[in-house]
Order: sequence, then structure tokens, then C-alpha cells
Amino acid sequence: MKKLLSFLTLLAFAIQIQAKDLPRVIILATGGTIAGAGASADRAGYTAGKIPIDDLIGAIPSVKKVANITGEQISSIGSQDMTIDIWQKLAVRINQIYANKEADAVVVTHGTDTQEETAYFLDLVTPSDMPVVLTGSMRPATAISADGPKNLYDAILVAIDPKTKGKGVLVSFNEGVYDAREVMKLSTTKVEAFGSPNSGPVGQVYDGKVEYYMSSIREENSKMPFKITADTKLPRVDIVYMYADAPSDMIDMLVAKKVDGIVIAGVGNGNFNKTYMDAVKRAVAAGVIVCRASRTPSGRVVLEDEINDDELGTIVSDDLTPQKARIMLMLGLTRTKDKKQLQNYFFTF
Ligand code: ASP
Repeated sequence: MKKLLSFLTLLAFAIQIQAKDLPRVIILATGGTIAGAGASADRAGYTAGKIPIDDLIGAIPSVKKVANITGEQISSIGSQDMTIDIWQKLAVRINQIYANKEADAVVVTHGTDTQEETAYFLDLVTPSDMPVVLTGSMRPATAISADGPKNLYDAILVAIDPKTKGKGVLVSFNEGVYDAREVMKLSTTKVEAFGSPNSGPVGQVYDGKVEYYMSSIREENSKMPFKITADTKLPRVDIVYMYADAPSDMIDMLVAKKVDGIVIAGVGNGNFNKTYMDAVKRAVAAGVIVCRASRTPSGRVVLEDEINDDELGTIVSDDLTPQKARIMLMLGLTRTKDKKQLQNYFFTF
């Protein structure tokens, strides 16, 4: 009996030591379908952001063998309701976790609709080499074959993998790993919802193993010049969509509202019609920074191609989608109004 007791004490001690040595991961939960609940097992009629983070962690008990996990609820929303305020909260908390060495890695659970925007925003404002990995799901937690638990487990594996350090913010989804700058939601409903049209995924998670096949050569996070505090007031930048025979009312309305920047989701290589051209001239004359992006899902927008940007006073998004170009312009405008410098940010980060 005595022997058994000392064996059990030793075992408990060994387990404790092992738990102590495991990497520490903080999960910042924001809501989304991964925390969604509905009355039926098909996914019709569910509500995003209903299930608290501790229940999501409870759905993957085996994670205790690989990491010490703590969850924090930052918000409980569908990501269509994501706000700049929540972005700031996330950024401030991530930078605090890194500064206080509270964890070795951070995972953010997030709805898929605007996940790529949050990922890129965080990539630009968390100047550390601590891994930050976003994930979500396409099926709510109450659905048959919900993809949330697997995606969350994989995101934790990606976050704690030593190879992930220094890769900037990543999205881990459906066994793919994507760079924050490149990733895009490509399907409205499929479980394979994300892709990076210009570059492909940077890695894969399979059988519990993380492998990387490529990495971004854009500047490292530690060189990012953008700083965010809880009090940072971000400039207003809006997006205007271009389509055949589009009238200029939206652009003129935004200029009248005195916005700081406009991103045009142009056609093809960031083109727009003559009506937009005249409205853009008026916007530039009024001091608004206008950035040409494209509604086309891949490729880049090239300076001085069909449009003479120098003469028109516009800048281009490079290969950023309009929604990411907006983020870059908002952050760029916190540092400068100089168009050359702003353009340089687009080509560098
Ligand atoms: N509307 C949901 C959201 O973005 C969709 C999802 O999470 O898949 O929060």
C-alpha cells in the first residue's frame, strides 16, 4: 500500500512537471461560427458567437497534453460586426501578453467573414516574434461534423510549433496555414473556405504535425512602424466599388464627409471609368488620399500602367485586396500624409 502511494505521488509529480513545461497558449475569443449554436444539427438558423471560450477548449480535451491553455473572451460577435475598437483591444492585449511574457503564443478564435482583415491588422501592429494564429470554423459547434474543434486544435499546434516563431500573424484553417497578408475567404459556405490566391498557403497541419513550405519575404513584424494603443484614433478610410457605368456619387459623398482616404476597388489593374476619374481628381484636390486597388481576386495593381498615378495623384495597393489596402492606408495615415511614404508602406509590409 505504501509503495503504491509513493508511486502515485511520483506520478502526480511527474505529470505536474510535464504540465509546467508545456508551452503556454492564451486563446483570445471573439465569437464567430466556431462559437455558433443552433437548434438543429444541420447548420441552418444558427447564431454566431454564442458559446464561451472555455466550452470550446473543453471540446478538445487532448490539447492538455500539448499545451497549457487559458481562454479570454474579448467579444462574442459574428465577425460581420467586427469593429476597429475590438481590433485595438486585441492588439493591445497581444502586445501586453508579449511584454509581460504571459504566454508563449496566442490563438485568436474569430468568425470567418472578416478574419483576413483582423489577421492583417494584427500583423501590422503587433511588432513581436511571438506566434499569433487565427482560426474559426464554417460549421457551428452544434452541427454534424463541426470543423471548429479540429481547427482550434490545429491552430494551437501551429502556434506552439518552434518553426512558427517570427512568421508574423497566421491563419490556420482546414489543415492549411496562411500568411496574414495573403489570406482571403474564397468560399461563402465551403469548409475549405480560405486560400491565398497570389501565393498559396505557407504550410500545412496534418496528423498533428506542422510543416512549412514557403514564407513571406515582406518585412518582419519587428520592423513594423505602426503603433496602436487603446487611445489611437484611426483615420477614416472607405472603399468604393467600381462596376460598368458606375456613377461618381459615392466618391463625392465621401469627399463631402471629409474622409481621410478612399480605396477604389477598381476593375482589372485598378482601373475605373471617366466618371470616377473626374471624381478622383476632385477627391485628390480636396486632400483625400486615393488608393487604386482591384475587385479582381488575384494579381497586383501596378503604378503608372493604364492610369498615370503621378499626374492623377493616386497611389496603388500593390497586391493587397481593397479591404486590406484600407487597413494599410488607415495605419499609414497615422504616420504620414506623404504619398511617397504611404506608397512605400504598401510595397514594404
Ligand atoms: N458570419 C460568421 C462570422 O464571420 C461566419 C463564420 O464565422 O464562419 O462570424
